[in-house]
Amino acid sequence: MTCSCEHHVLEQSIQPLVITPSPYKGESLPGFILRAAEDNGYESPLKLLHYAGMDDNEARSARPSLDKLAPLFGKSIEDFKATGLDSGSESRGRYVQIMGHSIPSMFTSCKHASLCVECVKENGFIDGYHEIKYALACPKHKIKTLNSCPVCHKTLSWHRLGLTKCKCGAGLAQFNPEKIDIPEVLALLGVLYSKLMNQSLNHQQIDQVGFPSEAMEHISVQTLLSVIYRFGLFNSKLADSADVDMAAVETTAKVFSNWPHNFYDYLEENQAPGANFKVSGLRGQFNSFYESFFKNIARDQELQFMRDAFISFGQERWKLAAIHPSFMTNETARVLGINALSKKINKHPRTIKKLINEGLIKVLPSCEGQTRNLFDLADQEQIELV
Ligand SMILES: [Zn+2]
Ligand SMILES: [Zn+2]
Repeated sequence: MTCSCEHHVLEQSIQPLVITPSPYKGESLPGFILRAAEDNGYESPLKLLHYAGMDDNEARSARPSLDKLAPLFGKSIEDFKATGLDSGSESRGRYVQIMGHSIPSMFTSCKHASLCVECVKENGFIDGYHEIKYALACPKHKIKTLNSCPVCHKTLSWHRLGLTKCKCGAGLAQFNPEKIDIPEVLALLGVLYSKLMNQSLNHQQIDQVGFPSEAMEHISVQTLLSVIYRFGLFNSKLADSADVDMAAVETTAKVFSNWPHNFYDYLEENQAPGANFKVSGLRGQFNSFYESFFKNIARDQELQFMRDAFISFGQERWKLAAIHPSFMTNETARVLGINALSKKINKHPRTIKKLINEGLIKVLPSCEGQTRNLFDLADQEQIELV
């Protein structure tokens, strides 16, 4: 029986393109469409997508339908999908499928294009990494990615003349890209690249900058993007959005390097000035940081390393907050309030107060506005710990 629905009629009437390239492994869908359009002499991929039977809306979407594209390449839908191109069927609502990962669209740059001209020169295609909002530099070529045209200054569109040709006609490959040589930024973008492109991590590079190696192995691309975004939110407001994104990448890279010491420095320099001393607990004092990173990220077990380091920071560096017993995975709490100390040394709080007056129990120095006494167990040489 012949199907006569509109879609199949349309499919039958479409002649394949003259040149029908196959997608490369790792090639982004809009990059592939742009390459095919350029090879076939179209002045924009929009024309090719219209020819495939798409209306303007669909042609401009992040994921035009593979079903409508397949006939242009003389392929069956099944064969075409098997090439590994990201499809729109997995890209629903606020998510876009990139290299098989479901990425929240707020972390993508699908409507705008970026590219590493050196990668294009070497590979002849644009990979999925360049659909990510934070792909601001190429970790391989150590250069900033291009996201606007150096001639017309407009943001690069996927609907342009060619892989390295802007809408305005400017050749993008002739401009010397800006070099980037911040090792931790290159390492972070290297992790992002490898995660997204389903490749193994470069542990030598990760170790050189002192990232937490095992944690980097287990973190998903979605969580990593979310972490970068959240550090960006805590950065002071910058006018230009490109600066905001680069600052977010730089902060995250710095925090992860020399782990966990630079993280402690970050907490001290960026979060501590806003600490709330009306409460005595570490979590309460750093509430907005805690909520953002440890409450609002879906796959929170991937951030256990950061949570552990946050608690170590409280005990080893900060010492101005009580660590709630539920935080502790073992009996390692060192900084305690009076009730926890009372339980720990099996003495009544009244007795403890007496011992404080006698100088036998040492109280941690407090901050202005802090009313509760805190005790560092390591300071108490005079009392026997139970
Ligand atoms: Zn590159
Ligand atoms: Zn231009």
